[in-house]
Amino acid sequence: MTEAPTDVFGYAARLTDAEAAKLTALRELLEHRARPHLATWWEDAHCPAHLRKEIAALHLEDDPSIVGEDGEPRPIYVGFRHLELARFDMSIGTLYGGQVGMFRTLVRRGGSPEQVERWDPRIRSFDLTGCFALTEPDHGSDVAGGLETTATREGDAWRIRGHKRWIGNAALSEVIVVVARDTSDDRVKAFLVPRAAEGVTVRDVTGKIALRMVRNGDIELRDVRVPESDRLQRIDSFADLAAILADLRFVVAWNAAGLQIGAYEAALAYASRRRQFGRPIAGFQLVQEKLSRMLGNATATLALAVAITDARRNGGADEMQAALVKGWAADRARETVALAREICGAEGIRVDNDVARFFADAEALYTFEGTREMNALIVGRAVTGLSAFTR
Ligand SMILES: Cc1cc2nc3c(=O)[nH]c(=O)nc-3n(C[C@H](O)[C@H](O)[C@H](O)COP(=O)(O)OP(=O)(O)OC[C@H]3O[C@@H](n4cnc5c(N)ncnc54)[C@H](O)[C@@H]3O)c2cc1C
Repeated sequence: MTEAPTDVFGYAARLTDAEAAKLTALRELLEHRARPHLATWWEDAHCPAHLRKEIAALHLEDDPSIVGEDGEPRPIYVGFRHLELARFDMSIGTLYGGQVGMFRTLVRRGGSPEQVERWDPRIRSFDLTGCFALTEPDHGSDVAGGLETTATREGDAWRIRGHKRWIGNAALSEVIVVVARDTSDDRVKAFLVPRAAEGVTVRDVTGKIALRMVRNGDIELRDVRVPESDRLQRIDSFADLAAILADLRFVVAWNAAGLQIGAYEAALAYASRRRQFGRPIAGFQLVQEKLSRMLGNATATLALAVAITDARRNGGADEMQAALVKGWAADRARETVALAREICGAEGIRVDNDVARFFADAEALYTFEGTREMNALIVGRAVTGLSAFTR
């Protein structure tokens, strides 16, 4: 959880003692096990995959002390958990969040009751790991209409053919949720494809300037056979899939808040220890103005994260609300990390001072979960009734 003065309005007070204790345990683990190596891992583009099991062992998702009667943790706690991870490092956040957020939600919401019963306990315990493959080399923003990966029914199985790109945690996952178009009726379906299946090739996307520790995969699927029993039975259209993804959108606001809080705290620490003209630069008016803008951005983003989480509890944020929050939060994140980098002068471009890592990682946040532009166009469509991107 964040503490005053970063959590200016005290939103963390909404957490129960047990939830706060879980987040403290997470923070301590990250500080001890990851902090000393963070800059090196980032620079070497090394994925600290071993941390996933260590974080899972904290039972941040399934400890009886933090689950309700439905067996699930509360959304506000889930939000703060994302914030805590992003505040530390978004790559490590993806390592954990890609499993319990994206993968688990897709299976729980997209699977039949029998499939959920079969897979969910193993997903929760990280015994079965997975990732989500929608984006393709030739289709990012327009993937809803442009999906080229195909699935052809052959008896009690499917033959999948296609190419996916940018898939987070792909090389670390036992199964890949592949979204494909049914060749018989053009409808969208989703399949649990074992990474080790014949016909699957996964290569890392290299040369990234953001989320360098995340293993984003480029995946080729050459006539991969998947049994009908491994198709998510409740996803039968792009609209079914989009509804599940929309329910996950609230997470991006928490990530944006966490990233900004991390950058702000790193810049404040640097400004307090760096001396120029005989005193700490933190005492200069222009530096304080930057700190104030950063804290304002982070606070407003956190307030929106709480608001969209509350909307979710009351039936869910609509598409326009989710797009407004994502687009606005991404803009604020970019501004905040740029101010942090500015405060640190030359040291602001060195990864050892943390700020450079947040600066670069904000670029990934800007693009995934719908680019800032596409989210702006979704808001534009809602307020004008005119779609600027579909005809
Ligand atoms: C770090 C990272 C992790 C990711 N993880 C995953 C994952 O796990 N699974 C997955 O499926 N995908 C993942 N993605 C892919 C991500 O969802 C896409 O990058 C995103 O949807 C944008 O697609 P694109 O990169 O192909 O950009 P493009 O769609 O090619 O867009 C390029 C530019 O054109 C703009 N543009 C496009 N169309 C319009 C229009 N009509 N009007 C105005 N501007 C337009 C965009 O806003 C953007 O600025 C990840 C991406 C990143 C960077």
